[in-house]
Formats: sequence, structure tokens, C-alpha cells
Amino acid sequence: MKKISIIVPMYNEEKVVSLFFSAIDKVLAKLTQYTFELVIVNDGSKDGTYPLLLAEQSRRPNLVLVNLSRNFGHEPAVAAGIATATGDALIPMDADLQDPPELIKDLLEKFEEGFDVVNAKRKTRHEDTFLKRFSAIQFYKFIARLSGKVKIPQNVGHFRLISRRVADEVIRLTERNRVFRIEVPFLGFKTTEVLFDRPKRVAGETHYNLKSMVKLAVDSIASTTSVPLVWPTWIAIFWEFLVGVSLVGQLVVFIFVPVDAMVHWIWLAGNILGIGLALMFYVLAILALYLSRVFIETQNRPFYVIDEIKKSS
Ligand code: UDP
Ligand code: MG
Repeated sequence: MKKISIIVPMYNEEKVVSLFFSAIDKVLAKLTQYTFELVIVNDGSKDGTYPLLLAEQSRRPNLVLVNLSRNFGHEPAVAAGIATATGDALIPMDADLQDPPELIKDLLEKFEEGFDVVNAKRKTRHEDTFLKRFSAIQFYKFIARLSGKVKIPQNVGHFRLISRRVADEVIRLTERNRVFRIEVPFLGFKTTEVLFDRPKRVAGETHYNLKSMVKLAVDSIASTTSVPLVWPTWIAIFWEFLVGVSLVGQLVVFIFVPVDAMVHWIWLAGNILGIGLALMFYVLAILALYLSRVFIETQNRPFYVIDEIKKSS
């Protein structure tokens, strides 16, 4: 019988705990062909979440509680859950039922078809504010342009199924800056998706404000690509072009158009400043060139991941 790990980070979710367990129990009770392990990560909750979880654990056999020493954040909490889970497939999901437990059945069906990664993709973002919707669209556009060969799926958060071997590869990644939604597509493997409508939070309040959303966006971009470090080179070249045009312009005016000498002095001062700036951007470009290498080396990602090796028998 295959074992499935459901991984749920919880931070100050006392209003949600019992609602979550009754919803998940209802769904798991129907999936009798599997055994389930619930890995709940208490991410340093300051409310009654942990005592509620301990009480829940005394009532059931399949609950693994990971209690973090303080609040580390959503990404580290999920990472801790993944490192602890022992299932043949792992499904990280939010506690607030915004990732509907009913979808677990669909994820498992795709898993049985042989997919290593099954993304749960949001069909709509009706529940989001205009700002969140707009920034999400822009974010995914931006990252799609920069991520090169890695295809980051749009509107997929933590909620997805990953097989044991994908989880093992995720655990093997040594980078400190953890962004699960970037790590999984980086690793590849046979991937598919199921669609769902994201409901509203069942109780309690979101932990994501504008600041943490910006942090997530910056972390995602920084862990995907070092392409922005090439930008100083382009700025240097463009700036040098502008200065070149200005210098030629001044020469032409100097030869053909009689203007006041003062104009030439001011123009010349501008050109000299411009040359200085161009030089500065070239220096930045050289630094960025090496910095991007340092970044790639310290991120220390595997430069390939093997799916399988087949030998002729
Ligand atoms: N969460 C966490 N640590 C944090 C913030 C959030 O473990 O520091 C958990 C939270 O309890 C929930 C999930 O991450 O299970 C998603 O958080 P939330 O619902 O606030 O995010 P949103 O759905 O609004 O993006
Ligand atoms: Mg939520």
C-alpha cells in the first residue's frame, strides 16, 4: 500500500486547526487504497495552535508534528515538512483550506498515471484583491522571460504532488534561499497539472502582506536567474552610445554652426560627465560578471538531474 504524506505548515492557525482536520479526514476516509501521514509543521505559533495540535495527535495515529523553535516563515516550514515526510508521494498544502483537500484525489490519480509532479493550478483568482491579481500576472510574465530553460508554471503555489524521488532531489538542493515553487520546476521530471478554483480562507487571516509578497517575488527571481546582473552591461553600452552621439554632435556644431563658446564649455562638461558614467557602468558590468559566477557557484545547484539510465540487456 502506498503511503502519502500531506504536509501542512501552520502559523497562528488556532481558528483553522479543527476545520482543517475535519475537512481532510472526510477526504482521506474515501481514499482507502492508501495510507496517509499528516506532517503538520508548527511554525512558531504564538496562539493556541500547538496545544490544539497536540490534542489532535493524542486522538489519531498518523500525525507527525514538527515543532519549529520559532517562526521561520512559510517556505522554511514547508522545507522542514518535506525533510520529515516519509511517504511515496508528498503533498504540501495550506492549512486554511484555500488548497481544497478534495483535489488530493485528482492529484493521486495523475500520480498513478506515472507523473512525478502534479501541479495544482489556480483557474481563477477571484478571491484575490486587484493588487494581488495584477502583481501576480506581472510577476509570472517577468519570471517567464528570465527563467530560460526552466519553465515556471503560472499560478501554482505550494499545493502540488511530488513523488518520493522528486522530494529527495528537493532535499538534496543546498541553496539557503528556498522557494519551493521554483525548485520543483528546476528539477524537471514528468509533470502535469490539475485545475482548481481557489476558495477564500476558511477562518483567520492571511499572513502575506505587501512586504512579504515583494520578498517572495524577489527571492523567486534571485533563485531562478542571475540575468539581472547582465543589465549593467547593456546600460554601459547604451550610455556609451548616447555619449558618442553627443560628442559627434558637438564636433559637428563646433565645425559648422557658430554658437557661443559657453555652450561648448557646458556641452563638453556634460560629455566628460557622461564618459565618467559610462566608465562606471563598465566597471559595474565587470563586477556583475564575476558576481553572477559567484552566485551560481554558491547556489550550488546540480547541473543536471537524471530521470533514469537505461542499459541494453
Ligand atoms: N504560514 C507559515 N508560516 C508563516 C506564514 C504562513 O507556516 O510565517 C502558513 C500558514 O499557516 C498557512 C500557509 O502558510 O497554512 C499559507 O499562509 P496564508 O494562508 O497566510 O497565505 P495566503 O494564502 O494568504 O497567501
Ligand atoms: Mg491562505
